[in-house]
Amino acid sequence: MSNNKRIVYADNAATTRLSDKAYEAMLPFLKESFGNPSSVYSLGRDAAKAVLDARKRVADAIGADVQEILFTSCGSEADNQAIRSAAAAGAKAGRRHIVTSAFEHHAVLRCCEYLQTQGFEVTYIKPDSRGLISPSQVADAIKSDTCLVSIMFANNEIGTIQPIPEIAAVCKEKGVPFHTDAVQAVGHIPIDVKAQGIDMLSLSGHKLHAPKGVGVLYCSRRLSLSPIIFGGSQERGRRAGTENVPAIVGLGAVIGDAVSGISARREKVLAMRERLIDGLMESIPDITLNGDRQMRLEGNINLSIKGIEGESLLMLLDMEGICASSGSACESASLDPSHVLKSIGLDEAAAKGSLRLTINEENNDDDIDYILEKLPLLTQKLRALG
Ligand code: PLP
Repeated sequence: MSNNKRIVYADNAATTRLSDKAYEAMLPFLKESFGNPSSVYSLGRDAAKAVLDARKRVADAIGADVQEILFTSCGSEADNQAIRSAAAAGAKAGRRHIVTSAFEHHAVLRCCEYLQTQGFEVTYIKPDSRGLISPSQVADAIKSDTCLVSIMFANNEIGTIQPIPEIAAVCKEKGVPFHTDAVQAVGHIPIDVKAQGIDMLSLSGHKLHAPKGVGVLYCSRRLSLSPIIFGGSQERGRRAGTENVPAIVGLGAVIGDAVSGISARREKVLAMRERLIDGLMESIPDITLNGDRQMRLEGNINLSIKGIEGESLLMLLDMEGICASSGSACESASLDPSHVLKSIGLDEAAAKGSLRLTINEENNDDDIDYILEKLPLLTQKLRALG
């Protein structure tokens, strides 16, 4: 790649740039402070102290107690452990029904599908055409043998934000544990697990300027977690494996800023997003915005562009230095139309002709102008090719 090539990174839902603060905090733990947190000598104790410090920061950021924070390798692992733990507890109590939504991330969906092969029944609630799930849909789906409700805080493709405190209240009233995949929400929506009634929550470092390779599962102390990785007694026996100390430290270094700066960043990003949506709507005929315009993450734009294949558009955008996606990054190797877009009622052609742009505070007005200049031309070019 030429150094002169202009790059506009508009795929922050896929991953974010590692912040300088996270990088600086990690460096000592990649070099001189390399001890194993389980070791008794001071090099090990220093690493253990750094992990504890990060755990406190994560707990503070989401209103949890420090013992309720479990470090995992990623958001997917956190989702899997939450669901498998609730299923294990449910099975013991004769409760083998799970409620989730049809447009969850595959980390949730595939885990639920696996549990179906093990005799669990799963209800997949369909969001409405705006990409929203109502508390009453959740109430209607819960049965006497439901052992878990898992509904994502914000969708990774269309960015829609669910009424999580209201859904959690329904679960509480019915006595069912509630998990939320908040991988796309932390750092964008204020979260307080206690005030919002959340029993379990997953998050992922690389979505908030921390490194890849670290996730978190918050689990209320009222519930018990079963390990999905067996071995040593790290994480108080709930997850075996030597801790990824540098990544955990990186997450601890930035999570406070991620949550305290939400409203300051939101204003700037929202203004850019609205200008981008309006500009694209004016300059490209036959496009629609997927997902509710108001109840969505401030940096998310998901469009269906009639008559084009999303994948072809991505390649042309890449040639112009614009990083975007069609569907989610984790499914980019799949040519199947997005399950998220299908769940809100789009037909196959509209789902395949989708484009996701996810901007954040690191973008600027020049980036928006550049996308507004290039995208209509590239769309025209593809449509002309028919
Ligand atoms: N859940 C959601 C909503 C996501 O967007 C992602 C990643 O894109 C994940 C889970 C998985 O997170 P990770 O990449 O840390 O496994």
